[in-house]
Amino acid sequence: MFADVSFPISSYQTFSYEIPDSLLKKVKVGVRVNAPLGRRKVQGIVVGLQKTLKYKGRIRPIESLVDDQPVLDHHLWKLINWLADYYNTPVGIAAKTALPTSLSTRYKPKTQMLVKSTGQKSDLPKKAKAQIAVLNHLKTQNGFIAVQSLGEFASNPVDVCRKLSGKNLIEIKLEPIIPDLTGFSFKPMFKKIRFSGYQKSAVDKICTSLDKNEFTPFLLHGVTGSGKTEIYIEAARHAISQGKTVIMLLPEISLTPQIAGRFRSVFGDEVAMWHSKLNQSARAWTWKRICAGDYKVVIGARSAIFSPLKNLGLIVVDEEQENSYKQESPAPRYHARDVSLMRGKIHNATVVLASATPSLESYYNYIQGKFEYIHLPERYGGAKYPHVHVVDMMKESKETDMYGSIFSRILIEKISDRIGKKEQVILLHNRRGFAPVLKCADCGEIETCPHCQVSLTYHKSGQFLQCHFCNHLKKQLPTQCRECHSLTLQLAGVGTQKVEEELMNLFPEAIVERLDVDTTRSGKNITEVLQRFSDGDINILLGTQMIAKGLDFSNATLVGIINGDTGLHLPDFRAGERVFQLIYQAAGRSGRGRIPGEVVVQTYSPDHSVIKCATQLDLKKYYNICLDERQTLDYPPFSWMVRLEISGENKRAVENASKIMGRKFNHLPKGMILLGPAYCYRERLRNKYRMQIVIKSKKTSDPNGNKLHHHFKKVINNKDSSNLPGNIRLIVDVNPVSLL
Ligand code: ADP
Ligand code: ZN
Ligand code: ZN
Repeated sequence: MFADVSFPISSYQTFSYEIPDSLLKKVKVGVRVNAPLGRRKVQGIVVGLQKTLKYKGRIRPIESLVDDQPVLDHHLWKLINWLADYYNTPVGIAAKTALPTSLSTRYKPKTQMLVKSTGQKSDLPKKAKAQIAVLNHLKTQNGFIAVQSLGEFASNPVDVCRKLSGKNLIEIKLEPIIPDLTGFSFKPMFKKIRFSGYQKSAVDKICTSLDKNEFTPFLLHGVTGSGKTEIYIEAARHAISQGKTVIMLLPEISLTPQIAGRFRSVFGDEVAMWHSKLNQSARAWTWKRICAGDYKVVIGARSAIFSPLKNLGLIVVDEEQENSYKQESPAPRYHARDVSLMRGKIHNATVVLASATPSLESYYNYIQGKFEYIHLPERYGGAKYPHVHVVDMMKESKETDMYGSIFSRILIEKISDRIGKKEQVILLHNRRGFAPVLKCADCGEIETCPHCQVSLTYHKSGQFLQCHFCNHLKKQLPTQCRECHSLTLQLAGVGTQKVEEELMNLFPEAIVERLDVDTTRSGKNITEVLQRFSDGDINILLGTQMIAKGLDFSNATLVGIINGDTGLHLPDFRAGERVFQLIYQAAGRSGRGRIPGEVVVQTYSPDHSVIKCATQLDLKKYYNICLDERQTLDYPPFSWMVRLEISGENKRAVENASKIMGRKFNHLPKGMILLGPAYCYRERLRNKYRMQIVIKSKKTSDPNGNKLHHHFKKVINNKDSSNLPGNIRLIVDVNPVSLL
């Protein structure tokens, strides 16, 4: 017998090995093995078995097994193969993505020794002091206790306990030490649930689909506060009652502790949390227990879509429009939403993509009749939509004769009103740091990162300049312009730290907490801050897009958006969609309880369609405008897209390689469009120059994207294209979420 083995290397081929007799029974598809590859011994995964081989050269044997059972079942294996093919990634690397790194099915948690007195009469000699001390202590205890806790009675308690056990005076048992799976805690939240009519019909639709055991994709479009969480829970309950299992995907589990908390309180220990704070052994342990069928529900971010649940019946993707579902790096650059749909297909499962602001892709799929549509048009419990005030900051500056103020008069007035009433405020500002730019007042020269073509952001706490792409730190602030040597350097622009400082000046009595990547890096616990906000211990919660979605605080009655235009003018076809979703979602945090809410959006472009529709909370109107634009320009969702990024440290080499690569796509089949090669918007990042080629294929002539898929693979994977110079790197991004 021979085995085809795939390795986590950048090669698309599999390698054949002979299976030694001793391993014949154990080598199966999905088992990992150690095998020689060149001069190394490498861990690979068995992807196929064959009785005979055509190949006549030397075949080496598999050396040993890594696992004693397959780490993947055939469903998951099918998914990995699809992943590899669709995202153009060697299958060994795709498999590595799906499996936790330190996984071994032989992994066993460490054990600890527990001991208990048997209560038997003892006649220990007086000189056995340690044994007597330990035994006496154990007699005072109820039940088993850990041997480690006996340190004060004996210098080597393990030895002493073995001796005591030999005399039948104590009982010993070994128990696995379960790795700490919580990492951070979720307060279970018990609630009395009464479904509204809309909720009930939503639940019915999903349950009916579960009963059919057929792949059915849904778009659950529920406005902010419509009670989507309870629908997920009810649907999960139904799936579990049928003996099925559930995957619940969240963009970032620590930012939505409320959803995890609700699941915990309903399903208890049947829920596994798969999140970034699990250490390797906890991951391996959780994986093994999922394989063993110990959990019914797995909640987690992107990679939870690969959890090895058996009999998967339901997949829910909450906030399905979120970009964090896309793995940007390394390959495979997959989108967990698309993987969910494929996994649902493989398992005949029901897939619910849910959002208050669906991605344009999913919205279009519903319009095209590819997704079933469930609409929750009302907030739960009669909560009203917030009233939105739009502040034209240009007008505001003229009227107050103050330019560059962070806060408009109306926002200040409303914040102070809320503090007075002991209601809470959420402020969104999607830019971290203190000031995003340090600029020469005389010649306009901007302090940029030496490795990237972006400006350095000034961080006041710590007094340094930092690149937000490569994290380059400049601790010594420059005192003069490097171009004209002028001494007048100015900080320009506003980051969250500056907003925070200004808030403290304006409202010295208020308790303000800031949440952004910097606060989380500094070790502050996000869930704890959110809990304190929920408990009413914080007046104002200030943050980046991290705080815009998923949070449910009934006492937050004012949301302020400091600069609604952030990101609006980025040269990316999704820029408008993102800004719309951010404003709409952030506004949705206001007035979720009994007290009606308000929103203040500050903008310099009040007439921009994105700002107008978002502040009128008119999703349908904006999506129609946006779809029109995309259709005119053949952008997704009207086309399929592949982006090739060519990068390297040598500018000329990058330009040359891009030109050559571009030429290979010169003769495109009908319906396909080539953009580039052109420099990326961020021309240089981490010392590398970046150029890109984008290929679009119109859905009218390529309904499933197959044509594009075959064409780019044919070009990319042929020998001379894959033979790029060593100093050039090629990235293939299928369905990119950003072209920046
Ligand atoms: P969404 O995720 O759709 O924005 P949530 O799921 O956070 O909304 O629900 C909004 C609020 O309404 C939450 O406090 C939630 O507990 C409450 N809620 C929703 N549905 C029900 C229900 N059927 N019974 C009781 N409370 C509900
Ligand atoms: Zn200058
Ligand atoms: Zn940099």
